[in-house]
Amino acid sequence: MDCIFCKIVKGEIPSKKVYEDEYVLAFHDINPIAPVHVLTIPKKHIVSLLDIKQEDKELVGHLHLALQKVAKEMGIDGSGFRVITNIGPHGQQTVFHLHYHLIGGRQLEWKM
Ligand code: AMP
Ligand code: ZN
Repeated sequence: MDCIFCKIVKGEIPSKKVYEDEYVLAFHDINPIAPVHVLTIPKKHIVSLLDIKQEDKELVGHLHLALQKVAKEMGIDGSGFRVITNIGPHGQQTVFHLHYHLIGGRQLEWKM
């Protein structure tokens, strides 16, 4: 499958890892929009939030707990941050492997 994030999981494309366990990988976004911009992904290939199945319920919970760990690891749990997952054309999703942007390290605004 030609998926860049699957290739990052397999180590075929390098990444700057922040956190890894059996089910989840977190790495720095190659084009950060804030001082902290980390992508957290399931190692399993899931296209987007719309493709999460009943059988993935535990994995998704695990991923949320990993997001907590990443925020703490990056030292932004106290200051706050934002978690975003883009879906489809209006969401401007560009990589079709489920990923959560964890963005922080500066004051964010809420303008789209
Ligand atoms: P999205 O637009 O929500 O699908 O987000 C995809 C994100 O992946 C973008 O923020 C890109 O900068 C990021 N990205 C693409 N390729 C890589 C890569 N090889 N390593 C790290 N981040 C990447
Ligand atoms: Zn993939």
